[in-house]
Amino acid sequence: MSAQQGRHFLHIPGPSPIPDRILRAIAMPIIDHRSAEFAVLGKQVLDGSKAVFKTKQPVVIYPASGTGAWEAAIVNTLSPGDTVLMAETGHFATLWKQIATRFGIEVEFIPGDWRRGADPAAIEARLSEDKARKITAVMVVHNETSTGSTSRIAEIRKAIDAAGHPALFMVDTISSLASVDYRHDEWQVDVTVSGSQKGLMLPPGLSFNAISEKALAASKTNKLPRSYWDWQEMVKINATGFFPYTPATNLLYGLKEALAMLQEEGLDNVFARHKRLAAACRVAVETWGLEVLCQNPAEHSPVLTGVLMPPSHDADRFRKITLEKYNISLGSGLGKVAGKVFRIGHLGECNELALLGALSGVEMGLAAAGVPHRSGGVQAAMAMLEGQTEANAPKAVA
Ligand SMILES: *Cc1c(COP(=O)(O)O)cnc(C)c1O
Repeated sequence: MSAQQGRHFLHIPGPSPIPDRILRAIAMPIIDHRSAEFAVLGKQVLDGSKAVFKTKQPVVIYPASGTGAWEAAIVNTLSPGDTVLMAETGHFATLWKQIATRFGIEVEFIPGDWRRGADPAAIEARLSEDKARKITAVMVVHNETSTGSTSRIAEIRKAIDAAGHPALFMVDTISSLASVDYRHDEWQVDVTVSGSQKGLMLPPGLSFNAISEKALAASKTNKLPRSYWDWQEMVKINATGFFPYTPATNLLYGLKEALAMLQEEGLDNVFARHKRLAAACRVAVETWGLEVLCQNPAEHSPVLTGVLMPPSHDADRFRKITLEKYNISLGSGLGKVAGKVFRIGHLGECNELALLGALSGVEMGLAAAGVPHRSGGVQAAMAMLEGQTEANAPKAVA
């Protein structure tokens, strides 16, 4: 099939495409993880990661998918019977809640319609009511990857402070880190959870906890058992550049390269690029006459755009036809919005032409699947991007 030739367009919101530089870095021979050479790499990636989380506090790295780091945040800070406050932003918030529940945590889930981020006012109201200070943690997903809504973490911090509540603040940045502005220290987040395969442009397999002093103190007295995820062991040995068990050495080579790439572009430029591409994607969706799932303009995700299908058109059938005809993978609707929503990822290595290629695939796919729409979405995205694009050509090597 001629349409399957050339590069596959991977436009799911993670894993994101892996830059060639990172693939080459990962392809190096493995080394002894107890050697002095490894300790240099270990120090580089452990210290270097702090810049991306915007923290001076410890960041630990697990050889695990993001789900592992979710679990690590819970088992290192909470005790069975604790009550935590979470917001139902979408499928990922629901999954994190499920993990907490399995560990005997009582979760108060502020209901949501999956079309916006967590509501700071609702969080403040609930915390203000909690005179007995029963709630031990507030847990929020920064970028809800199932819907394309980004919660306002700085405002949620303010809400917690306005209520004068001592709860720990834990944030899932698995799909926002290195794509959306995020500040672990400034926003006084106690545990930031993240993963490798989204904004960090790495394969799946690494995940992270950035840990505040308050969270580290909580981990000395909390009652949930853990072994593999234990922070105390990890933080102690990380100080020397080593890990308590075999780390994912080759992924750490990749992480070192990813951190270098982010530093070369500059984090603020990375964030601006994601916002610019997301805005162009939304213009295309609106021109097609389709609806963006996120309804709050202040919370549109820079990472992905969730698109509602017209009633009685199945999103998965559309995605299947588009994949078969144009060799592009789009994200499926998850949980409550399965079959009703598809998602366009524009994160990580994405640039203007990659986005326009993806949007072309979507526009042609809508026609091929007989989904009612207006044409001209790609044209509208081009018009928006023209003149906005910063110099994007390869830089001359000195
Ligand atoms: C991808 C993702 C996860 C799950 O991470 P895995 O690596 O699949 O375990 C959790 N939360 C968010 C917000 C995500 O985007």
